[in-house]
Amino acid sequence: MGQRMGIGGSCLCGSVGFALRGPLRDVVICHCHWCRKSSGHAFASGAVADQGLDLYRPGALAWYRSSPGVRRGFCADCGSSLFWLGGEGQVRFAPGALDDPAPLRVQGQIFEDSAGDYYTPSGRAPRVGAAPARLDCSCLCGETGFSVPGPAGEITACHCTGCRKSSGHYGASFAVEAVHWHGRATVAEFAPDRAGHQGATRGFCRVCGSSLYHRDPDGRSHVEAGAVDGPTGGRLTQHLCVAQKGLYYELTDGLPQTGGCA
Ligand SMILES: [Zn+2]
Ligand SMILES: [Zn+2]
Ligand SMILES: [Zn+2]
Repeated sequence: MGQRMGIGGSCLCGSVGFALRGPLRDVVICHCHWCRKSSGHAFASGAVADQGLDLYRPGALAWYRSSPGVRRGFCADCGSSLFWLGGEGQVRFAPGALDDPAPLRVQGQIFEDSAGDYYTPSGRAPRVGAAPARLDCSCLCGETGFSVPGPAGEITACHCTGCRKSSGHYGASFAVEAVHWHGRATVAEFAPDRAGHQGATRGFCRVCGSSLYHRDPDGRSHVEAGAVDGPTGGRLTQHLCVAQKGLYYELTDGLPQTGGCA
């Protein structure tokens, strides 16, 4: 077997493996409602020509048609966000899935007005808004639904490999004590065989791939902020595991950063 050419990527569980060849378009970060639900925070994507994607191990890759002409690719075994197809002759890929260094940087942001209430795309502090007593949450396809007590309070960004592969960019979540389920028939969980936060069990919708929650080995549950349907009443307060952060983006919001993973 010869060495595989290109920049390698994979999902969190390793079921899906791919390589990118040829020129890459820089990363665009989308804050639209659909991308936020799908990724659990904000969706980042670079792009490569259709023929530049070598999907050498399709594994459990599944597709969800989120709007006419748009398909989102995710791993049905671990929920990782991987691809976005819009029929442009190119494949958009999640940079969080890449295992090899890539010459990428963030070139822009879109749908900034649709960002969640807990952060701003510019990095400036968000305005204080609503403080809902109950947070209704759901996936992109609507098959899953649950509610948690609100407001969300402190929301934490995590840049560990697990959160990056799961969301496709990086994670943002808040701790919850109790979850009241309205629909969970399509919820799947993936539990990596690792210690600490890296071994968190990740809950996602197996129909649409939306990241919903993770549960650390100590039993604490965290809801991915993008799953909340309306205002969270929360505020991004810190960045964790920045030692594993992707190289294509900068953190410019001035919030405290911690290098290690809990
Ligand atoms: Zn996977
Ligand atoms: Zn769904
Ligand atoms: Zn993490």
